[in-house]
Amino acid sequence: MDLTHAPEAEAFRAEARAWLAGRVPDSPLPSLETAEGFAAHREWEAQLYADRWSAVSWPEEYGGRGVDIERWLLFEEEYWAAGAPGRVSQNGISLLAPTLFDHGTPEQRARVLPPMASGEVIWAQAWSEPESGSDLASLTSRAVRTGGGWLLSGQKTWSSRAAFADRAFGIFRSDPGAAKPHQGLTYLMFDLRAPGVTVRPIGRLDGKPAFAELFLDEVFVPDADVIGEPGQGWRIAMSTTGNERGLTLRSPGRFLAAADRLVALWRAAGDPADTALRDRVADAVVGARAYELFTWAAASRFAAGERIGAESSLNKVFWSQYDIALHETALDLLGPDAELAEGAWAEPWVFSLAGPIYAGTNEIQRDIIAERLLGLPKGRR
Ligand SMILES: Cc1cc2nc3c(=O)[nH]c(=O)nc-3n(C[C@H](O)[C@H](O)[C@H](O)COP(=O)(O)OP(=O)(O)OC[C@H]3O[C@@H](n4cnc5c(N)ncnc54)[C@H](O)[C@@H]3O)c2cc1C
Repeated sequence: MDLTHAPEAEAFRAEARAWLAGRVPDSPLPSLETAEGFAAHREWEAQLYADRWSAVSWPEEYGGRGVDIERWLLFEEEYWAAGAPGRVSQNGISLLAPTLFDHGTPEQRARVLPPMASGEVIWAQAWSEPESGSDLASLTSRAVRTGGGWLLSGQKTWSSRAAFADRAFGIFRSDPGAAKPHQGLTYLMFDLRAPGVTVRPIGRLDGKPAFAELFLDEVFVPDADVIGEPGQGWRIAMSTTGNERGLTLRSPGRFLAAADRLVALWRAAGDPADTALRDRVADAVVGARAYELFTWAAASRFAAGERIGAESSLNKVFWSQYDIALHETALDLLGPDAELAEGAWAEPWVFSLAGPIYAGTNEIQRDIIAERLLGLPKGRR
């Protein structure tokens, strides 16, 4: 693998760096899990979009720059190195958008993508239900045919950012008589403020409403908001989960930047004598670099036309465990002061604890690795 970038790619990186240097807020925005922070992050998305930095890999017609995966990774490196804000539009950009590129209609892409990229419409993912998380195919929320569309009923839960978001995408049972649980499901988009929708925020460990549960009572959705063919919702949803577990959710730039901040924290603490802690800081640096190289290798294969597939499960287990270890090292370094470092370390630590659970739990990812990558026999379920 050759990690030397062509002069044009380096020029793109320099353009991104210069733009970010002039725009990244001097002090961190308030937490995006609060109404005030959500609004501030939405405003930041609008700034990114105005200069076509919010979704750089999208075609220009939707507000992107149409760049390849190499440049997208370079942009991500610059973005996180500059200390730019977390992305409030992430669910839309990394989950719904790839779904629309693969399965949506030109009309849906033209209507949905630009306001998603500008932060005007923020999307929530409505997949999980109280009795359907890992076993998602057992979901029971319904989509019932009606004139010109569908009526949605049921309950969704753990919907990140739905407390403040505008719209949601989810899978619903449209044919309860189908032979198997993952058949007869339909993928739809709906408005969180439509009649019949109740959004009930759920507080996180720190009390912030990072999620919501959604109660749907005959919510009308027009045919124009069905993605793909009715009844094909499972196939469509599964074709895009790789994006959630793989590259787009946790690009290496994020960890390289966090490892750099950790080293700075170590130096600021006056190079403490604790060698075990020093080794953990070194592990964080080595881990970020290893993840970066793994990602570039995967990106090269992707650019050569290969699909990433079950490898995204490896990626997911690695980044979720790495994220916790890195944040715990920072908190141990800070000692009791960690409580005061909310924006910098404490809140991201709380969030890191959820990494092994969301985007498919690590137990499930390990089963996928065992069965699909290592060819081991199926586990007992
Ligand atoms: C921070 C966060 C954000 C989230 N955001 C969203 C969101 O935006 N939208 C959304 O739809 N959902 C979201 N979720 C929900 C998430 O996808 C589910 O929590 C996850 O899929 C696990 O489902 P569950 O909670 O029902 O746990 P369960 O599936 O009940 O699992 C409980 C435990 O049993 C284990 N287990 C279950 N089945 C097996 C098996 N076959 N083999 C081995 N072990 C097994 C699991 O690994 C886990 O440890 C979010 C969750 C978190 C924590």
